Amino acid sequence: MIEFERALEEVLRRTRRLDIESLSLKEAIGSVLAEDVKSKFDIPSFHKSAMDGYAVCAKDIESAPVDLKCVGEIPAGRFYPGKVKKGECVKIMTGSPLPEGADSVVMIEFTESSPPSFILPRKGGGGEESEVLPLDGSETPGDRWGCNLVRILHRVSKGENVCLKGEDIKKGKIVLKKGTVIRAPEVAVLAILGRAKIRGYRRPKASILCTGDELIEPGHRLLKFSHIYNSNGPMLRSLLSSMNIENQYLGIAKDKEEDLREKMKKGLKDDLLILSGGVSMGDYDLVPKVLRSCGVKIIFHKVSIKPGKPILFGLRGRNLIFGVPGNPVSTYLTFLILIKPAIEKMIGKKISLEIVKGIIKTDFRQKPGKRKHFLPVDVKMKHNERQIFPVKTYHGSADIASLLPANGFMVVDADVSFLKKNSKVDIILW
Ligand code: AMP
Ligand code: MG
Repeated sequence: MIEFERALEEVLRRTRRLDIESLSLKEAIGSVLAEDVKSKFDIPSFHKSAMDGYAVCAKDIESAPVDLKCVGEIPAGRFYPGKVKKGECVKIMTGSPLPEGADSVVMIEFTESSPPSFILPRKGGGGEESEVLPLDGSETPGDRWGCNLVRILHRVSKGENVCLKGEDIKKGKIVLKKGTVIRAPEVAVLAILGRAKIRGYRRPKASILCTGDELIEPGHRLLKFSHIYNSNGPMLRSLLSSMNIENQYLGIAKDKEEDLREKMKKGLKDDLLILSGGVSMGDYDLVPKVLRSCGVKIIFHKVSIKPGKPILFGLRGRNLIFGVPGNPVSTYLTFLILIKPAIEKMIGKKISLEIVKGIIKTDFRQKPGKRKHFLPVDVKMKHNERQIFPVKTYHGSADIASLLPANGFMVVDADVSFLKKNSKVDIILW
């Protein structure tokens, strides 16, 4: 049996970072960039309107309200080929390029389009009194006044409602550094730069195999009163999926050497195989023996932690094999403190496992033992400190429900028997 720190060191020392490969944006999510990504052009690549409105020259409308002649319009994806002259404006949509001669945009809400509403022909005509003659149908309002007049109600300052060329990203800038983890915003930035592929570290292919004659898959009937549902399979899959790791589920192997070997072989081809159950000292705990017979080199079996002691770590070539104890809290804990760091190393990511300090808010007693104790706790941030509330109902490694109110593990050294309320304790946050 080895200490936890030593076990983690062994795992990290023997885990290799996977190769760099070309990844599509879809594949890239969760990956780590293996190149610096530069912008080949300015973003925006032209002075762009931030509003729907009219492109004007600010100087021209200093004495607003003023009427300008609208000489054209620029829908999205188009540009105005001419130059906006004094006394003129161009109708512009959000995202369209500002035309030459204009330096700002007046929001549509601060304008009245031609002809100004105060001289619009009254509807109805007939007997009603009308200041102006109604349009005859073929005539547009612009025709009558010889142009499209726009009344600009408020002045704007130069550059108002305009996104300047290059204001988001300058040409030649390193936008994403090597080592960046790709999340949805990074995907969007890569896309805006026109990139469909990146160079990133390959993510491992993982397999999960559960073992135990007592296990039945959720959704099926328990056939004997001694049967239980398999919770580790779905939990391990969720843990891998939450790290964007593709995972193959190999089902449940019986506690028989042949069945174990046959199913195990499929998973041994993958970068990572996680086996649940069958690694303890019981008569039917056949995993270590069958792994050995398949050419797996066992690096360690048993770590001085509670729960999770029977955890096994092995190698077959470069592929990693973890045998996690079947009790679900042990499975969860050992994934968090040993398997997750290994995956992070494989994909070139910084190891996120960190022991931080918190203040325990109740007295805590335990029977001193020989193993480092990990207990589920609820960690609340209050007055700028982490307040630690151990889950009162927790009663051991089978008690998966105790993780529901928890968001961390308190780490208590083996020889500690008492922690006083308000003393500092070590924790791992999930
Ligand atoms: P083992 O590690 O195989 O000795 O199993 C230890 C305990 O965990 C036993 O009570 C098993 O029934 C239980 N167990 C094993 N595998 C699973 C699993 N996949 N889901 C839920 N409980 C399990
Ligand atoms: Mg078992």
